[in-house]
Amino acid sequence: MNEQQLLHSSKKHLWLPFTQMSDYERDPLIIESGEGIVLKDIYGKEYLDGYSSLWLNVHGHRKQEINEAIRDQLNKIAHSTLLGAANVPAVQLAERLVEITPSGLQRVFYSDSGATAVEIAVKMAYQYWQNIGETKKKKFVTLTNNYHGDTVGAISIGDIDLYHRVYGALMFQSIKSPFPLIYRHSSNDEAFIRDEALAKLKEIFANHHEEIAAITLEPIIQGAGGMNVMPKGYLKGVEKLCREFNILLIADEVATGFGRTGKMFAVEHENVQPDIMTMAKGITGGYLPIAATVTTEKIYEAFYGEYEEFKTFFHGHSYTGNQLGCAAALANLEIYEKENVVGKVREKALLVEEELGKLKELSHVGNIRQAGLMCGIELVKNKETKESFPWQERVGYKATLKMRELGMLTRPLGDVVVFMPPFASEAGQLKEMVNIMKEAILQVTENN
Ligand SMILES: *Cc1c(COP(=O)(O)O)cnc(C)c1O
Repeated sequence: MNEQQLLHSSKKHLWLPFTQMSDYERDPLIIESGEGIVLKDIYGKEYLDGYSSLWLNVHGHRKQEINEAIRDQLNKIAHSTLLGAANVPAVQLAERLVEITPSGLQRVFYSDSGATAVEIAVKMAYQYWQNIGETKKKKFVTLTNNYHGDTVGAISIGDIDLYHRVYGALMFQSIKSPFPLIYRHSSNDEAFIRDEALAKLKEIFANHHEEIAAITLEPIIQGAGGMNVMPKGYLKGVEKLCREFNILLIADEVATGFGRTGKMFAVEHENVQPDIMTMAKGITGGYLPIAATVTTEKIYEAFYGEYEEFKTFFHGHSYTGNQLGCAAALANLEIYEKENVVGKVREKALLVEEELGKLKELSHVGNIRQAGLMCGIELVKNKETKESFPWQERVGYKATLKMRELGMLTRPLGDVVVFMPPFASEAGQLKEMVNIMKEAILQVTENN
């Protein structure tokens, strides 16, 4: 197919995720190749990958070691099932994951996306209490604005009104506890904001702990909900309340895992031990759909017994533990060690913080939030009052379209521009991307 045919066919037959297709028809984009952190479209135009191909990519595209690991694995086998049978790279990867996750986590259950990893965490937590005879513990607590993926279970413990409201009757009810949002809080005392949110959570736990199975959260920084950073000590506070009230802590590290926030996993910032942890996005370096739900031996044991006891976890997906994906993940993790990737994230995060500081002078940049190489730039109509732009203006969307024109790709979350560069980005590329964001934001907001 030539460019014209590809374009035509993409509009005629594709249905893209999280996309109003009339937007796509006006501003289509078809990627053909990538190298390092640069993507190239079918016309040869190049773009810096400012969102790590939707928060996945780590070492850049076409990383030699990962390419080779996949080719080597192809010479053995691409896929065999994990239902009732293990495979070599799945075993090796499970051992590696247990090594790098917090010490209590010992068992790895594979799947193929963040949402499935979360779905598994929910069912695992639910059945855990059933299996040990605590049959009243059936409810889930989540934080306002949380995002855990798009399957029905995952949206039931999510709280993004725009994505979820239409499915209301389809979802199970979860209990919402307020996320300690700093930017628009009437107080600017972070410790106060933290303690207020913890007090609210404690009230919920105290009143309902007998029926609560687990709480789910995105540790340290809430991603799709707007790149909101937790006040220091909040995560640790939640862990303490979980222990006090006998409630499982599910840490969704799908976005934050594998170094994104400057630690291998974000829970490490506050030395928190989750009961269940979900991971996906960065696990294969952004190559293949592998995800994992990792848990403690205590939870695993509640499912262990003779078949007749009906404790089995009846859950699985066709491509669970796929060999090509596990081989890619193993090669990915080897590079982490060899190249001190997480240490470099911390260094690059400092540079990014300094560079993003230059955006503060813009009259419509209200707030810049960052944890490691996970950043959000909130655009507002009025910086003093923090008044938002009318949503109909789609300022965030327009700013990212302008960035595309200027040679960088990212996507907004409402009026929050996401900046999540691959860890392999060099200093010059990071500066260039910040300059592009600045120019695009200026051009799109200057008449307001
Ligand atoms: C992206 C994301 C998910 C969903 O992952 P998918 O692979 O897109 O299903 C779940 N939780 C968090 C925190 C995420 O950022």
